[in-house]
Amino acid sequence: MKVIIIPALKDNYIFLLVDKQTKNSIVIDPAESKPVLDYLNIHGLNLTHILNTHHHGDHIGGNAELKSQTGAKIVASSYDNHRIPGIDKIVTDNDEFILNGINFKVIYTPGHTLGHIVFYSSTFKALFCGDTLFSLGCGRLFEDTAAQMFNSLQKIKALPNDTAIYCAHEYSLNNARFATYIDPYNVALKEKLDNLTELRNNNQPTIPSILSAELACNPFLRTSNISIRQNLGLLNATELEVFTEIRLRKDNS
Ligand SMILES: [Zn+2]
Repeated sequence: MKVIIIPALKDNYIFLLVDKQTKNSIVIDPAESKPVLDYLNIHGLNLTHILNTHHHGDHIGGNAELKSQTGAKIVASSYDNHRIPGIDKIVTDNDEFILNGINFKVIYTPGHTLGHIVFYSSTFKALFCGDTLFSLGCGRLFEDTAAQMFNSLQKIKALPNDTAIYCAHEYSLNNARFATYIDPYNVALKEKLDNLTELRNNNQPTIPSILSAELACNPFLRTSNISIRQNLGLLNATELEVFTEIRLRKDNS
């Protein structure tokens, strides 16, 4: 079993979970169909399922074509039943299921959109988190409040520290510059920035990240950190107030 990263559109990543023995595969958030169909054809793979984290076009754009070409079943959030066409299996918070021998657990993470879900796979020790958490960042608040996103991120923080974080966009370097502005004395962040810069200079994806690195470096997960609070002039604020301020500054950066 392995996770294949397929770049798509401007800065999206599509994830293909491949069982090399059975040649079955599952795709997560197919932004477009062509690069996925090309990969399936080249490697002689079957596509059995399409998993969507939320309804945005750059996450479901390939659904219809992939479904008609391969017969794959679409799995998506019950909250998006009215806005993701062709759903075969609706899932909600805490649902657990097995596809092609791979374990998945659904975690409801509203914030970026009202219906957003993420998929935790204990088989891969991986989280497929769409546009909820990014490496060194988090999703914009399109349909929900800062409080909802803050709560959703607490659920992700509670996962095992060694969880691989597969987010759907290559935003890491831009996020690292913003994180450095929020958290300028963080040595781990400086090291991560160097590492990310090298990866991008070699045209390599910075995904997956590891949850432990995000806990050490991602300002949106570090709202209790004293140094960040001092820097923002919010020493005595609640964690939600710190989160809201960081999100606001990122939106205006
Ligand atoms: Zn989105």
